[in-house]
Amino acid sequence: MYPALDHRIFHLISEIAAEHNVRCYVVGGYVRDILLDRPSKDIDILVVGSGIELARSVAKHSGKMGRVTVFRNFGTAMLRYDELEIEFVGARKESYSPDSRKPVVENGTLQDDLNRRDFTINALTVSLNRENFGELLDPFKGVSDLRKKVIRTVLDPDATYADDPLRMMRAIRFAAQLDFTIEMKSLRAITKNRQRIDIVSKERVTDELNKIMLTPKPSKGFGYLDRTGLLFFVLPELTRLKGVDIKDSVRHKDNFWHTLQVLDNISGKSDNIWLRWAALLHDIAKPVTKKYLPGHGWTFHSHEYVGAKMVPDIFRRMHLPLGKSMRYVQKLVKLHLRPIALVEEEVTDSAVRRLLFEAGEDIDDLMMLCEADITSKNDAKVRQYLANFRNVRKKLKEIEEKDAIRNFQPPVSGDVIMQTFNLRPCREVGIIKNAIKEAILEGTIANSYKEAYDYMIKKAVELGLNVVNDKRFS
Ligand code: ATP
Ligand code: MG
Repeated sequence: MYPALDHRIFHLISEIAAEHNVRCYVVGGYVRDILLDRPSKDIDILVVGSGIELARSVAKHSGKMGRVTVFRNFGTAMLRYDELEIEFVGARKESYSPDSRKPVVENGTLQDDLNRRDFTINALTVSLNRENFGELLDPFKGVSDLRKKVIRTVLDPDATYADDPLRMMRAIRFAAQLDFTIEMKSLRAITKNRQRIDIVSKERVTDELNKIMLTPKPSKGFGYLDRTGLLFFVLPELTRLKGVDIKDSVRHKDNFWHTLQVLDNISGKSDNIWLRWAALLHDIAKPVTKKYLPGHGWTFHSHEYVGAKMVPDIFRRMHLPLGKSMRYVQKLVKLHLRPIALVEEEVTDSAVRRLLFEAGEDIDDLMMLCEADITSKNDAKVRQYLANFRNVRKKLKEIEEKDAIRNFQPPVSGDVIMQTFNLRPCREVGIIKNAIKEAILEGTIANSYKEAYDYMIKKAVELGLNVVNDKRFS
């Protein structure tokens, strides 16, 4: 018996099910994860009968359980026990029609229910019935697949993926999360059914994609998405990064594999999903900006700006959030070449201040992205680039300590400008404010109230404005 299954809650469920005269089982991901020694808090209980009734009865008998949440549409009920989340579901039988991933559902047997599950490793079952409590039922040789580390469908792969195309994303996601391989027959079936992913809601697809993004080595999942052709339907911009052009025997690197390596590199350093998205999209505009200049080679002029402009469309299409996270990704894509420009020895303080100002609190993430962007195979070069970036970090630190630009707020506010010259909000206020900001970033004046105030007066005189209220000492 697996120690995790000796938990009081499983004995309780077992006793109550016996009183109700229904059979029940632990099934799916929880069993798989016990066998893989991956801690998991989501438990699925399969009941041959009403899951909702059993859940209610268990809740009543256990004393310390909270309310049962019933999802009548799905015929399921959920309750919490300590940190565990337990879902009760009646065994069912499903039949699919070609234009939908929502099956017609009817009550079924244990076997019917296991037959509708996607992968052998997800159809593992542990009995909670008195006569064989704790016994593992493995009708599809899931344990052997766990050992072999393969993702294999329970039934015919072609029908499995055609019925519910989300399973194609799930196959790749599990392979990525568990570091498994997908069996050949499955890969062929996914390739064949790839276009059917279009009948799955964007949210579900993106959800799986994000899970792939969050694995320690996302290139594995993206490799599968590419091999099966699914990627084209999920994120076509990414497939356009593939390939190498050669002119006058000059070649550029394959930007698809470069991007995946940057994504892997960043994943070794941070769990921030949006930083990973920035890595995935940092070169997204290279194909549309690519030019060959004879004598000079391949250029991707402005790809960082064009790329930043592409981000909102991609996020909208994928139903990713359009607020702060998206702006963060855009910012990093737009700025990803800037730190490289600061490598030069004779770089001015004002260039450093400008980057600090534009990156703001995301400067450290931007530096991480730039370091992850180094994918040369030449070790000496990599070492040189990393040393260069250490230098840039040093410059950033020095200037930040001196000028505190990172969370820059103009030392003279719009209010002060308006009061001094007795103005309503107008064009002049904006001009003066901007002039002060520029002067500070350029280093013409220090980042202080006094110098900014004097500078404001000078600018205002140029604009023909007169001081009405002196605010010099406020
Ligand atoms: P995780 O919770 O880590 O995503 P899981 O295997 O528990 O993994 P869930 O989505 O929670 O995945 O689903 C629970 C179980 O329900 C799965 O183990 C599988 O048996 C079954 N299942 C879920 N989605 C599908 C599907 N689209 N097709 C067939 N079976 C599915
Ligand atoms: Mg689960």
